[in-house]
Amino acid sequence: MGHCAIVGINWGDEGKGRMVDLLTEKYDVVIRYQGGGNAGHTVVNEFGKFALHLLPSGIFRPGVINVLGNGVALDLENLWTEMEQVRSQGVRLTPENLKISERASLLLPWHRQLDGLEEARLKDRAYGSTRQGIAPFYSDKSQKKTILAGELFDRAALQDHAARLLEWKNLTLTGVYGAEPIRLKDLMDWLDRFGEKLKPFICNTTTLLRDAQAEGKHFLFEAQLGALRDLDYGIIPYTTSSNAIAAYAPVGSGFPGARIDEVIGVVKAYSTCVGEGPFVCEMFGGEAERLRRAGAEYGAKTGRPRRVGPIDLVATRYGVQMQNATAIALTKLDVLSDLKEIPVCARYELDGKEIDDFPFPTLLDRCKPVLTTVPGWQQDISAARSWQDLPQAARDYVEMIERAIGCPIAYVSVGPERDAYIRR
Ligand code: GDP
Repeated sequence: MGHCAIVGINWGDEGKGRMVDLLTEKYDVVIRYQGGGNAGHTVVNEFGKFALHLLPSGIFRPGVINVLGNGVALDLENLWTEMEQVRSQGVRLTPENLKISERASLLLPWHRQLDGLEEARLKDRAYGSTRQGIAPFYSDKSQKKTILAGELFDRAALQDHAARLLEWKNLTLTGVYGAEPIRLKDLMDWLDRFGEKLKPFICNTTTLLRDAQAEGKHFLFEAQLGALRDLDYGIIPYTTSSNAIAAYAPVGSGFPGARIDEVIGVVKAYSTCVGEGPFVCEMFGGEAERLRRAGAEYGAKTGRPRRVGPIDLVATRYGVQMQNATAIALTKLDVLSDLKEIPVCARYELDGKEIDDFPFPTLLDRCKPVLTTVPGWQQDISAARSWQDLPQAARDYVEMIERAIGCPIAYVSVGPERDAYIRR
């Protein structure tokens, strides 16, 4: 056993959180390496039900060290709120089991403000942002105009840096968007308030991971969102602003030399998509509503109804390739149990020609789904715990997907609870 990454193959919300929660048993360190609090991982276990946004999903396991790497968007306020929430449900969170990289950049209040202002400016051409400030944050990070978590330890230097950033940022807020300028005092109050609470958790996570590796510890890298939302390989511009692919895990985690031995790609048994952008396999009307309700497909962060469709073999195969997945966890198979026939998006039709390869993003709007159906199993499978427990039609469905995407399906989940899965 070596290091492993758990990543999304599609548009996100595939059920990564539950897979990390399940697999943390075997790993010593769980690391979030990108993204911010803009999406949610839902985990159901003995402590209750949680929608984790920034916290790594390993926090429920005693002895597991959880790391927020340098690649994440560190929103101190949201993180603290999330920590308080999780603690109130009986989960232990201390500087022993949660470590924040001193090299993580801070997502500041103006990032959220600018996200909202820009989406409002775009009106009906908005990107569908969750308005958590992620895009403005990563733009500033690329411009080297953010504050690092480690800077919280030197208040005088921090104030000086904050004043210089503010002078620059207020030009945009007032000059471009006509908003009120932010006052240094308010910014420093915010930094003091949440910085003091979180300072005990901030450390050099690179040396921590280096030492852990030397001791033979095993790492689990946890991604947010999926391959189709990756900044470089996703459906641009309807992507997130960081790299969600497994190849970025070593960089964003704080241990750039890490070798990832296993990449578990999480795929849902059907498709869902939050927000704007092309979604070729999308279903509408009553059929969509029934699937949405059966799968409880409403955003973990926003409560927004998710767009739904059948499994998209073209997009999924592409996601598997971009993630270089070595195994697949197929989730929510139980949600399809009522269907007499299960629709499948087998190929796309582009300008009258059928294609198997996921096309360039700007061509997606011209693609239509080529649908087929396969027989359903029409019985409750939520108690199945072995491959043999599944009806033949369910096994056929899993094997059909496996053949189409060219990657072994090692896990099949049949319910949200930790033990509701089959290991093949
Ligand atoms: P993530 O961001 O990839 O972790 O996914 P989300 O947490 O947004 O969405 C997954 C949702 O599906 C959560 O509400 C899970 O509790 C739920 N879930 C995960 N696996 C299964 C499953 O096998 N069956 C059912 N019915 N629900 C599941």
